[in-house]
Amino acid sequence: MWNYSFAVPSLLVILLYAVYYFYLPRLPIKMNRTFLRLLIIQCAVTTLDIVSSIADDHYQAFSIVLLYILNGAYFIVFIFRALHFYFFTLNVFRIDYTDGKKRSLFVKIPIIFSFLVVLSSPFTHAIFYIDESGYHAGKYYFFLNFVQWFLILGSFFVLQQLRNVPKRRRDVKGVFFYNTILLTGTIFRIMYPHHLIMDTFCLIAITIIYLTFENPDFYLESRSYAFNSRALREYLDEINGKKKYKIMAFIIHNYSEVREIYGGRQMDTGISIIGNYLYQTFRKYKVFYFRSGRFVIVGDENMDVEMVHNTLVKRFMSPWKSNDTELYLEAGYTVIESGNWSSCDAVLNMLISMLEIVEKSEDGSINYVDAKVMEEATKGTEIKKALEYAVDNNKVEVFMQPVIDGATGKLVGAEALARIRDENGKLIPPGLFIPIAEKNGKINQLGEQVFAKTCKFIQENDIKKMGMKWVNVNLSPIQFMRSDLDVRLHAILDKYEVDPGVIHLEVTEEAMGEEGLMEKQIGNIREKGFFFVLDDFGKGYSNISRLKKYPFINIKLDMSIVWDYCKNPDVILPNLVNTFEKMGFSVTAEGVEDEKMAADMVKIGCDYLQGYYYSMPIPIDEFVAKYGG
Ligand code: C2E
Ligand code: CA
Ligand code: CA
Repeated sequence: MWNYSFAVPSLLVILLYAVYYFYLPRLPIKMNRTFLRLLIIQCAVTTLDIVSSIADDHYQAFSIVLLYILNGAYFIVFIFRALHFYFFTLNVFRIDYTDGKKRSLFVKIPIIFSFLVVLSSPFTHAIFYIDESGYHAGKYYFFLNFVQWFLILGSFFVLQQLRNVPKRRRDVKGVFFYNTILLTGTIFRIMYPHHLIMDTFCLIAITIIYLTFENPDFYLESRSYAFNSRALREYLDEINGKKKYKIMAFIIHNYSEVREIYGGRQMDTGISIIGNYLYQTFRKYKVFYFRSGRFVIVGDENMDVEMVHNTLVKRFMSPWKSNDTELYLEAGYTVIESGNWSSCDAVLNMLISMLEIVEKSEDGSINYVDAKVMEEATKGTEIKKALEYAVDNNKVEVFMQPVIDGATGKLVGAEALARIRDENGKLIPPGLFIPIAEKNGKINQLGEQVFAKTCKFIQENDIKKMGMKWVNVNLSPIQFMRSDLDVRLHAILDKYEVDPGVIHLEVTEEAMGEEGLMEKQIGNIREKGFFFVLDDFGKGYSNISRLKKYPFINIKLDMSIVWDYCKNPDVILPNLVNTFEKMGFSVTAEGVEDEKMAADMVKIGCDYLQGYYYSMPIPIDEFVAKYGG
């Protein structure tokens, strides 16, 4: 009476999936656990479908009780399967079915009810019954279809709500696809009840899930048994805040240089050798490779980090070898514990910055992330947020610090300095946010905002009347990398109808790194009419002969050498200033904090003075009120 030509091959294929899935390491996240259960349930449903159908065909040979048990068990796992397809949809979108009473009732009531109906069937004959002529569908058999449709509808409902979240578009497509297949299966099941065809449709649905979400390779580093960075992200995202954990991470010293020396291919082999070693050695823990020579081992709160550390230090003393590879490597170590991390990204950022620190540490001991480091890290993310907000909303403020003519003691210019504020409106010093902006590229926008606001200041105020001949604006070395910098600056200048001659661009020697490029850039910008000033002279490495090549009109002495001289006068600084004057540069002394310092600086020949003695940097309106006459 039953036709097994679909069910038997389906069973074989699902067994194959299960074997492969068990063979590779699996990340213990909810979605994977649901999938694993789905595989097992699917094996059970298909097996019971075949076995109970055979028994029903030969009902005379079996006791009635056994027939009830086999058929009843089949219907129970059948409902379970539908339920797990629905759970899988929730897992894909990280929806917790236990959060929110409504959603959990939505599932519980129909499921419990259908179990009751199935289990009571021997007495009520609701879903099925068995009599002298064998197995029969009961009067309310169709109810099982309703439960299935109800759950599929639940999945479609989730999709409906998420369809406009762009990040989810691919996931939405996958989920839509397998649910449509399930729906089609239920229809075929009604049309061809004797072909046991639903199992095949479920197999197709599982195949779709496998291909889109569950291939174990998606989570593995190529050619090794270590999980990859995507896996680390998803795993931490799931356990952070819910479970206690410890992370032991290490980084290969000078990874990029070592990679250059050994070559990319050898290094990749090395990485998979290390990954496999960690996987074999620390079976109790999860091993991840987080790109760029960084490995991460995650364990529970009882993880013995000292033991792991000692094992690794010992192992790194000998080379990593395979057929054609022999790598001598060193590593730096860090440990992070679960705590009040706001998100998995916070943990990962901490991990990355700690590894950056230990990459250079020589002693190979563990660097623990303590409360102080943690506080600094959160501060770092706050600054990043404030920076992003200020830059994206045109909220970077410009403060002006006066520059004074040494001969007259009067205002002659000003330096524009960037400021941003934190959530409470408190100022954040540029020493904290400029390096971050230079790292993440925001410095280009930030610099142009400061430049534009300075132009606006010049346009709106009669600076000549204030005694000012120019305004200085800082240029970061990063801004210099843009070959269209001259065009961009000039466009802003045009907008505010400002004469380029009153803008002095401050650059540091750091910016003059690549000589050819820099000469060209500076030449282009000079052509547009801007002047250049050398900032922070004496702060680091200085090369006087190189200065001849660049069209600076002024050199600013960094406050470190100004302070040095004022404390212990010598002949070096006066001679230097003298040389600069002979080379045609005017000289500005920075960091002038009192009258004596001002007098000293004028005496050795500085033309201009800048420092707290005259004024700290102040907001533009304050500046105008103070010097506007
Ligand atoms: P800088 O260009 O050397 O700017 C001078 C810094 O010295 C300013 O710090 C100023 O407030 C401080 N200063 C001035 N006089 C005195 C003094 O008498 N005593 C002491 N102790 N300090 C004094 P600020 O505003 O915190 O800026 C720090 C650095 O941030 C600047 O150093 C500059 O490198 C960078 N920066 C500021 N604004 C911008 C900007 O718009 N673009 C770029 N690329 N960098 C900027
Ligand atoms: Ca400056
Ligand atoms: Ca300076």
